[in-house]
Amino acid sequence: MSIFNHASIKIRMLALVLLPLIFASFLSALEVKKQRENVRALNTLNSKVSFLESLSQLNKLTNQAREQLFKHNTKVTLAPLTPSLSKIAQQLPQTFTAKNNLEMESWLASTNDALKELTEVSTEDLADWSAWFNELQVQALNTLEKDNSGFNDEINQQLAILYQLQWLSLWSTEEKWLINLLLQNRDDSELLSQLNSITERQQLFVERFIDINAKPEQVSLLLSTFSDKAFEQSYQLRSHILDKQALTNTPNISLEAFSQRLDLIQYVVSSFSVKLSSNIQSEIAQSKNLIWLFCTALFISLIIIAIIGANLYRRIINYLSHVINTMSHIEETHDYSQKISEEGNDELSLFSKTLNKLINERHQNELKILQAKREAEKANQAKSSFLANMSHEIRTPLNGIIGMSDIMAGTKLTATQSEYLQTIETSSQTLLILINDILDLSKIESGNLSITNTDADITEVVYDTLTIVLPKIAEKNLTLEVKIDNDTPYLVSLDEHRMKQVLVNLLSNAVKFTHEGGIKVVISCCNAAGYCDLLISVHDSGIGIAKEKQQHIFSPFTQEDDTTTREFGGTGLGLAICKQLITLMGGEIGLISEKGKGCCFSIKLRSQIITQEKPVSNQFEGLTTALISNNSELSERLNRECQQYGFNLNFHYQSCFDLLQEKQIFDLLFIDSFSSTRDTLAALPELLRQKDIFTIAINTPTEKRELDNMDATVTLPLLGNRFKNAVSNGLENRNLRLKQDSNSAINNQLAEEPEKVKIVILIVEDNLVNQKVASLLVKQAGFDCIIANNGQEALDFISSGEAFNAILMDCMMPVMDGFTATEKIREWEGLNSQSRHPIIALTASVLDQDIERCYQSGMDDYLAKPFKKEALLHKLKSVSKLAS
Ligand code: ADP
Repeated sequence: MSIFNHASIKIRMLALVLLPLIFASFLSALEVKKQRENVRALNTLNSKVSFLESLSQLNKLTNQAREQLFKHNTKVTLAPLTPSLSKIAQQLPQTFTAKNNLEMESWLASTNDALKELTEVSTEDLADWSAWFNELQVQALNTLEKDNSGFNDEINQQLAILYQLQWLSLWSTEEKWLINLLLQNRDDSELLSQLNSITERQQLFVERFIDINAKPEQVSLLLSTFSDKAFEQSYQLRSHILDKQALTNTPNISLEAFSQRLDLIQYVVSSFSVKLSSNIQSEIAQSKNLIWLFCTALFISLIIIAIIGANLYRRIINYLSHVINTMSHIEETHDYSQKISEEGNDELSLFSKTLNKLINERHQNELKILQAKREAEKANQAKSSFLANMSHEIRTPLNGIIGMSDIMAGTKLTATQSEYLQTIETSSQTLLILINDILDLSKIESGNLSITNTDADITEVVYDTLTIVLPKIAEKNLTLEVKIDNDTPYLVSLDEHRMKQVLVNLLSNAVKFTHEGGIKVVISCCNAAGYCDLLISVHDSGIGIAKEKQQHIFSPFTQEDDTTTREFGGTGLGLAICKQLITLMGGEIGLISEKGKGCCFSIKLRSQIITQEKPVSNQFEGLTTALISNNSELSERLNRECQQYGFNLNFHYQSCFDLLQEKQIFDLLFIDSFSSTRDTLAALPELLRQKDIFTIAINTPTEKRELDNMDATVTLPLLGNRFKNAVSNGLENRNLRLKQDSNSAINNQLAEEPEKVKIVILIVEDNLVNQKVASLLVKQAGFDCIIANNGQEALDFISSGEAFNAILMDCMMPVMDGFTATEKIREWEGLNSQSRHPIIALTASVLDQDIERCYQSGMDDYLAKPFKKEALLHKLKSVSKLAS
């Protein structure tokens, strides 16, 4: 069946209509052909009957002519015979089959000859001529009998009877002729024997007639004919002649009996002929009727099939396309007012009703689903807003706790107090991480977390995150290795913030679960046209994860060790968030690990390449540098890094003494703290005194030696921006030193202080504790500050013309919130052509939309609560630059 399903319904319908039509036409054509052949055969048969009649007529006339010639010596003329003869000539082609036709044509020629001869024959030769003519008659009848075209039984039987009667007539005529001859010469033994044989033949044909199974009425016709007196008299005469008795009665009367007998036989022949002819005519009419009937029936059925077929075809095809169109329209527009037409009262109408019912049900279900979705979204929204509020409310006091402990850490404390403070700090940070994780997870699950790609330097992203975990690595005395593929593009399209979050999580776990050995971060890259496949893997030599637990640790709240005696803290949310974030970025996160042998977490991500090569900066162009290290690999690596910023590593010394001896002049000295000896360190002050240089210590996280009087430090393997900052800081320190050399130290101190006091920060905050935290931290940084309790107060300060170097603006406040206050301040600045105040949002909300709102309202930066001293100072520093 399936093979038919490849053809369209349209084609199958056409086939369904056309095939029966063709088949019926074919069958009908066959039947019509058969009937036409039937008619043709019947016509031939009819010709045969007519031919027989003509033959019999010719026979009778010829006999009469011959008798006339014999009895009265009257000359025979062909005129009376000609009509029968030409009739025979005409009928001949239609009567016989092609094969017998030839034979009969020669027969006709012979008959013509014979008849012509009759006109000239003498009475003496008449007996011979009669024998010849009789011969021709016999031949004609034989050919006729042979030429059997075959037909239905009844007609065949009638034809056979007709033949027998024809024979009978022939032999009776012949008998009469012989008797004519015998009456003249009764002792002619040959004539007598001929008469004898003719008598027997007649007897034979009568018997054959009976054998043919003639019908009772036919037999009774024959019997009534044969029982006629003429027959009796003719038989008597024949017996007398055959027995050579004296003819007492007048022979004329007896011959008359023969003539009557012949007429009677002729009569029977013609009644049979007429009967047969009428039978044949009725058969022909019947066949013709049948042909008409077939043609009419075929025509009518073709019309009916065509009408029904066309109707069915139109109904099904139109219906199907109507259903398809309506369904597609509903699918596209969700317009359920559309219905499938239920017109008519057939199966398709029933089907339409069922379909409409289903569409209606689907509509109802869709409405229910939409309702359920709306409710779920509402619930989700409620959950998210509850979590955001909770987070906000927890962050606000947490800001107080963290800020205050930060401030307290800067005061003089006893060892025990410091320890307690450290506990407060750790607990607060743990609480903060937990809040952030729960908030992130909830945002991801509710679909509110969106990925924002920017142009990111993936190498810097890795270095930045490693910087965060570096203190822990150093604390646990672990090694750190970073391998970055040379093909790694400089800038790719990436959500830097979320990638850092993932990497911090993986690296924190790596450090947390590793007690000895180290951590290795590898970035490998496979570049293609316009994009690259990044593979970032974090390897550790820690406790590893058992195979059976590996799948589960990416689920929320799941840890490898879920016993109550577990050694490591944590919530089990980190990896779940990592997985969700990487999936949102379109990447994959995977794990290879063996219990006790460490872990390898890897992130596969396809990113668009923004810039392949990092451009060489000329920031430090012309700087001459030297390195003291016995590590040649380090020298090469540093040189590469220097070249990236437009200068070279000019001199490489194995020790400090080599340097002193060479007396080269340069600006920057890198000192590899690992390969430096105590001697190097001892000689350093001397060196600094002699030369106008600045120094940068090169450390590793574990092999860190305290080098005094260094201008900056670089911790391997973290280079990039850290290296640039170290050079920049070192350069600044040297310039400061040079300045200090030319002025007295005290004067410098005095000159700097009033500069610091000039910076005034406006703190806009409604919460008293947070006011305190912010103002203390600002003051610790050496800035001055003024407090505004809400947005309105801040606006009043600004519009009264008071000048501030920066504004720290809380977002949610009574009277006027931070967003409105910022908008109004920007409006006032615009109207009064005042310079723009740098505004930093202080927000306890970390929701993307809130942060976005900060920028939209005109703020320049934001700091999430709770914040640390360093973070605030960093922001204020950049802000004070803005202000200057
Ligand atoms: P948490 O670290 O807060 O428990 P995570 O989702 O980050 O939550 O990690 C889930 C669990 O996966 C951890 O508790 C730990 O059992 C296992 N795990 C994660 N990283 C490592 C690793 N580097 N080494 C060994 N186990 C790890």
